[in-house]
Amino acid sequence: MRTYIFGPVPSRRLGISLGVDLTPTKTCSFDCLYCQLSKTTFHTSERHEFCNPDVVLAELRETLNEIARPDWITISGTGEPTLHSGLGYILAEIKKLGNAPTCVITNSSLLHLPEVRNELLLADRLLPTLTSVNPETFRKIHRPTSDLLLPAILDGLRLFTAAFSGKVEIEIFVCPGINDSESEILALSEYLNSIEKLESVYLNTAVRVPLASEIKTADQSRLNRFRDLLQLKVPVSTAFEHSLVPPKESSWSRPAASSDVLKLLLRHPCSQNQLEKVLGSPPEKIMALLSALEKQGLISKEPNDCWALTDYSQNR
Ligand code: SF4
Repeated sequence: MRTYIFGPVPSRRLGISLGVDLTPTKTCSFDCLYCQLSKTTFHTSERHEFCNPDVVLAELRETLNEIARPDWITISGTGEPTLHSGLGYILAEIKKLGNAPTCVITNSSLLHLPEVRNELLLADRLLPTLTSVNPETFRKIHRPTSDLLLPAILDGLRLFTAAFSGKVEIEIFVCPGINDSESEILALSEYLNSIEKLESVYLNTAVRVPLASEIKTADQSRLNRFRDLLQLKVPVSTAFEHSLVPPKESSWSRPAASSDVLKLLLRHPCSQNQLEKVLGSPPEKIMALLSALEKQGLISKEPNDCWALTDYSQNR
């Protein structure tokens, strides 16, 4: 049974991505309105060794022996990965495996810390989130721990991107009625255009069901308006322009099991088609696993046809 490694998952931006989860569920410096997981249970900005890095690496090596080479090994999961104090060591050891490039998905909250920036320099790609440069909007959307200050985070993100040899794609989570006024977008535009070596920007929205009812989905025309107003020098893509189903199939050396489906859905609600591709299993096998888990009350289907856990608090 795997604890820290999940997937491979179908990723809109990364293709087939093998996930590494370094924090217990919902250990996060934020408690975002749009989070589709449970409420943040451990709200902290203090770094800590939440799990033994060598145990994580042993599990990763074992999984890599079972599956075809993923497109990316991605540090992300059910909390904020930069909170793990062993992140630098883990990234360095993954690099030595030489299996796939590494990507870190972060909420950006700890980028004001030089040690975090130095550790992240070991990755090949960074996908940081930034939803607003207005401190009030930032606090409203992310509900950060009280010590986290937006100006320091913005400086940290700028410094990191200038020093990084890999690619940085900033994700903006568009929350209609909260961060999509003209003044919000123009302020973001000014900041983003000032970042040296920024590769691209990705406009995301609530394509999965969030916990907070005030979060609405931005449709494609709203995302297009956001993109037009941003007027960036770098490419901007939107959630609806990326396919949810990976182009190629994963292959596993063993048949998919219920625990594989549960571990995957904990981090990433998926459609049946996605599960077939990433678990490399035929439709009848996946349908049987899904229907057994549904009967046990462990998963349910969301309005967007994705399967998700019914209770995130019951899982790591
Ligand atoms: S940063 Fe990510 S995990 Fe943390 S609350 Fe926000 S969306 Fe959820």
